[in-house]
Amino acid sequence: MERTIWDVARQQFFEAAELTDLDDDLKEILSQCNRDLTVRFPVCMDDGSIRVFEGYRVQHNQARGPTKGGIRFSPEVTLDEVRALAMWMTWKTAVVKIPYGGAKGGVICDPHNMSLGELENLTRRYATEISIIVGREKDIPAPDVNTNPQIMAWFMDTLSMRSGFSDTGVVTGKPVEIGGSLGRLDATSRGCLYVAEEALRERGETLEGKTVAIQGFGNAGSFAASLFARAGARVVAVCDSQGGVYNSSGLDVDRLMRLKQESTTMAEYPDGDRVDPKQLLEQPCDILIPAAVEDQITEANADRIQARIVVEAANGPTTPEADRILNERGVTVLPDVLANAGGVTVSYFEWVQDLGSFFWDEERVYRELKRVMTAAYRDMSAELARLQGLHGPRINHRQAAYVLAIQRVARATQLRGIYP
Ligand code: NAD
Repeated sequence: MERTIWDVARQQFFEAAELTDLDDDLKEILSQCNRDLTVRFPVCMDDGSIRVFEGYRVQHNQARGPTKGGIRFSPEVTLDEVRALAMWMTWKTAVVKIPYGGAKGGVICDPHNMSLGELENLTRRYATEISIIVGREKDIPAPDVNTNPQIMAWFMDTLSMRSGFSDTGVVTGKPVEIGGSLGRLDATSRGCLYVAEEALRERGETLEGKTVAIQGFGNAGSFAASLFARAGARVVAVCDSQGGVYNSSGLDVDRLMRLKQESTTMAEYPDGDRVDPKQLLEQPCDILIPAAVEDQITEANADRIQARIVVEAANGPTTPEADRILNERGVTVLPDVLANAGGVTVSYFEWVQDLGSFFWDEERVYRELKRVMTAAYRDMSAELARLQGLHGPRINHRQAAYVLAIQRVARATQLRGIYP
């Protein structure tokens, strides 16, 4: 049987758990998802027909608080993928020490071939279907691949209609006019920037003049391009699912942003060599930012990655085999559970602001985000040093982040006890 991304997530968990003193019962608890909800629901399409869609909401673990995780709309969504993403959310929220567990949702659909009205109908019906397990103190969704602030607004409105009041805390990533947080749009990329800067600082280096290649030019990838460029790096390659461009002298990020606004593919950027999404990963650069989908850096291409640092803006872009190859080659992989945690961290700030009905300025959001991301990086780095002292250089950054997270979730589970 073909290995799924859920198998990968469990393999990563078990390998890291081996480095802890967790007993087998706790490993068994943490290696499973607590709840998997599958829903099938009808949606009225513009031509008057009715189509039945399948969607999921999975909650991996609630030991440290309500569950949290995005919703993805894509033809490729599977229950196993959503399970893996939910588990990764548990480790991510624990790495950055915010009081949440992990969840994720998805609907099998092709949003690029649906009208706005059809997308709204689908969102509202999916929100209603999963409302039996979501709620501001239970499970709080957010945007992910192909979902955005408008979709979160429909989600919030739908659940508010059911509650009879404006239930802003039920979802994050909303537009600022209706309870969203300033700084949420670029939070994932900003978090990537802060951890990359920390990793360089540890080596006595800065971002100034470093070359960057980015796979994926959506929310995470496009803001990463502009933030890394503004911080002094040179963006030399970008792509989206249709292709992209490489130019060793650097790309004009404002021009890339304009192409994106015009809904044009990055492959249309005029000055440079065409690259496809796989080739992008192998371009010469100091820093590679996978910001698209899972399973991109594998044993088939890991030995051709030229970057010295990989910053995982995407979830699950690197397989365990590729992790080993990159580690042996001295390439630092800043793992997804740390590197892209800026998104969920500002989502947490949004939720705190909604519950308190008191909103922060942008400067405060950035300051608090930097504090959380820097502390998480340093905790991971200290754990890496401890583990390498015990087991040698085969231990990588991902394992250190996992061990940190697993121990925090295990401790919460032990303190709460097993009910009844
Ligand atoms: P998005 O839908 O805004 O953008 C996805 C981008 O990836 C698009 O440019 C798309 O064309 C491109 N893409 C899709 N498949 C590709 C492929 N095979 N090769 C190259 N490019 C491809 O999604 P996003 O929100 O930017 O999410 C991207 C990744 O970041 C996902 O793994 C997501 O889980 C992760 N992430 C996002 C957030 C967030 O706040 N948005 C937070 C944490 C993690």
